[in-house]
Amino acid sequence: MTSRFSEAYVEVLAGLASKKLSSDKTWQTLITRARKLAGQHGFEVSEASLVEDLRKYLEKAEAKGANEAVSLLAGAGEELSGTGAGAMVCDDLARRLGALKTLRHTYLLKRFGSHKVWCLSLPPSFTDWPHEALKGGLGGATAKLADKGDRFTLEQRKHLGNASQEGLKWVHKAMSVSSSPKKKANFELVARWFADRNSKDADVLAVAEKLNAGLKKLSSKLKSGRLIYTDSVSERGTTANQSTEAFVWGDPLDVVYIEEEFFGSRNTLTGLTNWARIVVHELTHRELKTEDHAYEHQGINPNKLTAAKAVENADSWAWFCADCAGALTEGVIKNAMDR
Ligand SMILES: [Zn+2]
Repeated sequence: MTSRFSEAYVEVLAGLASKKLSSDKTWQTLITRARKLAGQHGFEVSEASLVEDLRKYLEKAEAKGANEAVSLLAGAGEELSGTGAGAMVCDDLARRLGALKTLRHTYLLKRFGSHKVWCLSLPPSFTDWPHEALKGGLGGATAKLADKGDRFTLEQRKHLGNASQEGLKWVHKAMSVSSSPKKKANFELVARWFADRNSKDADVLAVAEKLNAGLKKLSSKLKSGRLIYTDSVSERGTTANQSTEAFVWGDPLDVVYIEEEFFGSRNTLTGLTNWARIVVHELTHRELKTEDHAYEHQGINPNKLTAAKAVENADSWAWFCADCAGALTEGVIKNAMDR
């Protein structure tokens, strides 16, 4: 059954709360910090160093001959003494192991300033969230625990962090434009993406006010330290997200799912500009309940789309932000308007 990260996170909290976790002194120190890191409403930025220290601890143990599976089993309070072939990982142990494995693959993507977001990058061998994937035969669980692979490579995590930071920059520029819409250049920017031939000046000023209020929400989300980028781990074995760039799934936590096409090349925009567009697009879905009336390649000129739909349309918001930040060439803007 497919499930969201928010559901898996509840299991992480339960796993960390368990009294059966290792009583070893070093592990207890890590576990105490892990409990602070994994708060009721998501990961706490102030405790972010725990994930780095956990990785360092596992790396050191590996240098001494204990691979990550051995270490994580020990951390979960399972020493495996006397367990032979055919041993099983029960739900309860899977939950403890899953909690540690989740933190092992959690990264804080912080570039500079107030921008901070998380990335959960579980190994590709997981086709479900850890508390599910680690259940069953000990052999399979051990192989998964020992897998140090990351769904998002170091380079991709850098790209994600940059995209998110760039998205925040765009949002700030767009906030500045929409806060003084009576300035001619600003008025024209708002009108380009949100006014149709029936719009009056007052309508453009009203939409600017709406944009400004919405953009403030996006900005605070990108700065909140609560935003988590991951992929839809429980759907990995399916074709559900094959041609998907990213999506949101109504998680109680602030989760944006990043999928295969995010780093693809099928979009009008490319590289950082496209990734930032996707981030802003998805955040408008999450924070402002925007729709996908039309994507840019389908035509988002408000004269075609209508002004009423443009203000509800995720890609219109994202392209407006890109335009305000000077991220679009004249040719790209003309092309978008002509579609
Ligand atoms: Zn969308």
